[in-house]
Amino acid sequence: MLTHIIPLYEAGKFALDNEVRNRQNLKFIQEALLCTSYQKRHELISKLSKIPFIQASNVKASERGWKTPSEVYSRTKELLTWFEGNEQVWFITGSFPKSLLNDLNIPINLRPRAKTATGHVVIRNEWGFNQRGLHDFDPGANVDGLQRSLELITIDKAKILWNILLKYRYLVKGVVETSKYKDFRNPRSEETFSQMGQLCSKEAWLPNQNGDFCFPEELFLNDLPEGFEKSTNEAQELAMTLGMRKAEELQLADKLGIPHELISFIQRDREVILALYQEQQQKKVPLPSSITNDPARRTDKAVEAAYNAAVKTYKAVSINRRISAGNIEPKAYLRNHHTNAEGQLICQLCNQTMPFQFPEGEDFFVACQYIELLEKEHEANYLALCPNCAAEFQYACQTVEDKRAELILDLDLTIDEANLVVHIDTPVHQCLRFTQRHFIDLQMAIKDWLKADPEPTKQEMDMSVT
Ligand SMILES: [Zn+2]
Repeated sequence: MLTHIIPLYEAGKFALDNEVRNRQNLKFIQEALLCTSYQKRHELISKLSKIPFIQASNVKASERGWKTPSEVYSRTKELLTWFEGNEQVWFITGSFPKSLLNDLNIPINLRPRAKTATGHVVIRNEWGFNQRGLHDFDPGANVDGLQRSLELITIDKAKILWNILLKYRYLVKGVVETSKYKDFRNPRSEETFSQMGQLCSKEAWLPNQNGDFCFPEELFLNDLPEGFEKSTNEAQELAMTLGMRKAEELQLADKLGIPHELISFIQRDREVILALYQEQQQKKVPLPSSITNDPARRTDKAVEAAYNAAVKTYKAVSINRRISAGNIEPKAYLRNHHTNAEGQLICQLCNQTMPFQFPEGEDFFVACQYIELLEKEHEANYLALCPNCAAEFQYACQTVEDKRAELILDLDLTIDEANLVVHIDTPVHQCLRFTQRHFIDLQMAIKDWLKADPEPTKQEMDMSVT
């Protein structure tokens, strides 16, 4: 057999479509392996392992070719699922004798590739440098195609992987001992992930109940969907090894009466929560106190002061009232242009939502006039501000009116909406933000005003610059 069939395969002389001939040859090989002596059999297997005599096809690229035993997998449901979409993998085509699969060590199911030993796994065995994995742990352990399958993860793949990790938990993470001595005196021990453990703990591959893939650290064992073994001690052990979230966190969330997701939010954005906490702490200012030493005396004085207080008096005066303001509706305009996608009205100075709503549900806010100087009524000449910012703008803004106009004129209309910000001189919030439509309207309103009355304004503006 060695002299007749094998050289033909070595030379690539078989046509892929010669099914009958190929089947016949496989039968010869199978029989040869069965009949021969132990020694001969060993030689034959080692020879066959290097010869591309197996007809295989690539699922992804639908190519066909001759492959060696170590390059192919049996076409089983589990392996087809696991390697789905992996362009590197070849499956045996046509029928293939079962005993031959076994003899040639061709995988029929998925299992980790790892060094086996009884007890400790020898990793390095050199002069002055000995290393071993304790209790069958091999740090090089890996699963064929793991990286690619994690990239192309599906629920079915995740289920297969979960079962493998459960069965081979001792290959996920373990202790490696290093010593100068062969008998491992004075060892240095280090707990470490194997290659497969590392990948499985750092990739988002575990599905939650919605079918979204999460990192192990984001998930509780209970969050895994139906069909995943999660009630056994083995499952709990694996969850711990992979760094999945612990049951105590769930209990804590229940105790605090907060949703379970909030715990992971806190873990993920610890900084945000800490900043919030600090802000909260700073807000706790001491409350003022004004206590009298002699309440009776204070009461007497208060009675006297109340009695002597001036009575409100009235006098008719004539004032000029700006009646044209009644013709425009700046509030409706501002609501229109400053409400976000979630229906919240956002303050142009502090970028926060308004502090409260009217009983009808509308946000309370203040429409502040931006430039008093404009001679016409323009809805765009108002700002949508929360009450705090309104007070800040009305009573503490140091930017003079002409400068306010100049700031708006200086910005190019074509820039991104995100950059439509003018810097005004107010004590707390210095950035006044506009939406694009509002900005265009305001700039045009100011230009219209300049056109109507260019001279004095230009002069004024020059003065404000110097
Ligand atoms: Zn505000």
